[in-house]
Amino acid sequence: MPGPGPDSYEKFDGKGRNKPVWTRDRSILPHRYHSGSTKSKSETLGAHHAAVYSLSDWVQNIGQVSSSMNFYDLDPGRQQEAARERLFKYVRNYVAPYHPFLRRRCREQGIDLRNIRSAEEFSRLPLIDKNDLARNPLMFILRPSLSGAPLPDGYDSKPLPKHVVLRHALKAVLNLPRDPAYLVRRDSLKERARRNGMLEWLPIHTHASSGSSGDPVPVMFTYYDFHRVIREIASLIPETKLPTPGLPRFHWDDRKLSIFPGAPHVAFYAPVIAKILVGTPSFETFGGAVIPTERQITMFAAGGFQTLLAVPSYLVYWLRRAIEMRRSGKVGPLTNLRRVVLGAEPVSEPLRNCIVQLAAEAGAEPPLKILQTAGMTEMKWTFIECTERSGVHLNPKFYYWELLHPDTRQPVNPGEPGVLVFTHIGWRGTVLVRYWTGDLIQGGMIWDRCPHCGWTFPRIFPPICRAEADFSKIKGARVELPLLIETVRDTPGVRYFQVTLDHESDSFSRDVMIVRILPEANVEREPLARLLSERIKAATEVTPDQILFEDSSESAEAAFVSRLFARTGVKAQNIVERRGGYQRT
Ligand SMILES: [Zn+2]
Repeated sequence: MPGPGPDSYEKFDGKGRNKPVWTRDRSILPHRYHSGSTKSKSETLGAHHAAVYSLSDWVQNIGQVSSSMNFYDLDPGRQQEAARERLFKYVRNYVAPYHPFLRRRCREQGIDLRNIRSAEEFSRLPLIDKNDLARNPLMFILRPSLSGAPLPDGYDSKPLPKHVVLRHALKAVLNLPRDPAYLVRRDSLKERARRNGMLEWLPIHTHASSGSSGDPVPVMFTYYDFHRVIREIASLIPETKLPTPGLPRFHWDDRKLSIFPGAPHVAFYAPVIAKILVGTPSFETFGGAVIPTERQITMFAAGGFQTLLAVPSYLVYWLRRAIEMRRSGKVGPLTNLRRVVLGAEPVSEPLRNCIVQLAAEAGAEPPLKILQTAGMTEMKWTFIECTERSGVHLNPKFYYWELLHPDTRQPVNPGEPGVLVFTHIGWRGTVLVRYWTGDLIQGGMIWDRCPHCGWTFPRIFPPICRAEADFSKIKGARVELPLLIETVRDTPGVRYFQVTLDHESDSFSRDVMIVRILPEANVEREPLARLLSERIKAATEVTPDQILFEDSSESAEAAFVSRLFARTGVKAQNIVERRGGYQRT
């Protein structure tokens, strides 16, 4: 099985030089393996001895890795330099030979991926977007041509070099690291070598985006991805070097209840994969359809959980149920609730305050730590803040991050709004290079030593919205849909809501905006309707045609909530688009 150093055939030594420290991957970069003091020994020793030698070499270097070469403790300039070095090497050594889509795209544009050695050359690579990925997702999987999976016409890739194939064979002969599968199998050497290769290259796990448009787009993971890449990223839960007064620290035995609905997307799987690779407990409810909300709340109270992992809109519903259950004596106060980790939807300040207030009513003892995450299926992982409002800490070692102007597509200055573009580094399976996420990071990105935790990370700051698709023309006005959602949701007295955009009659008739509200108990409807109408008009320039109030009985509320979550099961569908040609929004 792959060794412990995640794609770290080279480590940055913190002084601007690269040193070989983990020589398992030497076959990928033979000149590195044969460099320096290892040269004469490794050339004269037999292959078996070479493998053992590389292990002792690695052991000798452990001290360096753990002290001066902590990638996340490098000064920002050094880390940026080291990240770029890793990026260029990965593009040259893995993307150039094995990425069918980019080999073709770059061939058509006269770009040679083997020549990428500077930021300037890298910035000339074409941007790819979801349309490229959706059209042919399998061509984004790194695939050496001898893998046994033939490529369609127009696509090609290179075979693995002979010494890499030999390395797989050698590991198979020695059964190093030991593979327990062979306790009960007698495979031929060829089959064993092939299995060794599969651990690195064979996709074994798939996530699909639950996007609002078209078919789900799959991204694939290999065994190598989990053990050599994700294990490190998932372990990085940045804790402040100097603990922030009043805010609870994260402990490894902190029990987490994930109330994300079970589905093949990163929001659900990330906690599952993280707990297995990192060793920290969680329980997954798979959402209200599998374990009813009331049962989840009883479990949370009885099971000694401290953390909730949730989509904000579902969390609000969950906490309100907990308050009702507490009032009716069905459950005690949720005194252990200390942390809430939110994903899949943006979190405004009023929403944050609402969650704090609801948690307090449910019995949580302040302070409650609310952490935001950012991630998407295509990234293959998700990222978190180190503390409240610190900005989401993106991983600088296994990704290269760019923030580009939405129109010119040129880099923006630190802290200026731009569209997030990323490149995978060190991954196998699906690999994206200069992937245009379409997410406009309005608070910009800063790549420095975080003033809160003291570690070096690129950090992105909300609000985050879609660069293009989140706008819609309503009655001629260009309306920012997240703003419309925020405006209605943050109006005092609104408990749940759904806005429907429709035509008055046929598809040529005028637009109609209908706002359905399930109000808080004891709220007067007329003043609330007036306030809503004024707020929506002020925010969007559009006056709603109708504001309808739903019955606020318990059964009507349950029906309304299930309608809200019916489409994706993950996010509340606060806007329903019924006009032809606008399905994307
Ligand atoms: Zn930090």
